Amino acid sequence: MSATRADWVEACNSEFLAQRVHNFSALEVADVGRRAGDRELQAPTLDLLENAIMLIDVLQYIRDEGVRSPVLINSWYRDEEYNKKIGGVPWSMHLTCGAADIVKVGYTPSQVADMLEAHPLADKLGIGRYNTFTHVDIRGWLGREAPARW
Ligand SMILES: [Zn+2]
Repeated sequence: MSATRADWVEACNSEFLAQRVHNFSALEVADVGRRAGDRELQAPTLDLLENAIMLIDVLQYIRDEGVRSPVLINSWYRDEEYNKKIGGVPWSMHLTCGAADIVKVGYTPSQVADMLEAHPLADKLGIGRYNTFTHVDIRGWLGREAPARW
């Protein structure tokens, strides 16, 4: 029995409040219950929240670099079935809550990737450059091989 949308929002936002996360919220991590084709997106297990909070440190850095502006989330957590459906790799960092595909308002994806390269701990990050967004993940903090670039 997986968490409902309301359960997820309550658990995630109370953790974010405790950790002083102000600029990101539960439904950005996982839009639980949204229909995607023939099924609804599932909530992550709550043990993955600490990965989300580590990633938020990096997202907050991107928000504050250059001209401070919102970081929009295209995709953050993916449950296993959804990840499979959209052709994600089985070891995708999106399954861990430790990866997001992002756009920073006012900046190109390539500028965002360059900002990530300038992060003090860039050697622990995965950074993927795409035409319309930038992928970032915290693989080095989760014991996976790092850095990764594509
Ligand atoms: Zn991604």
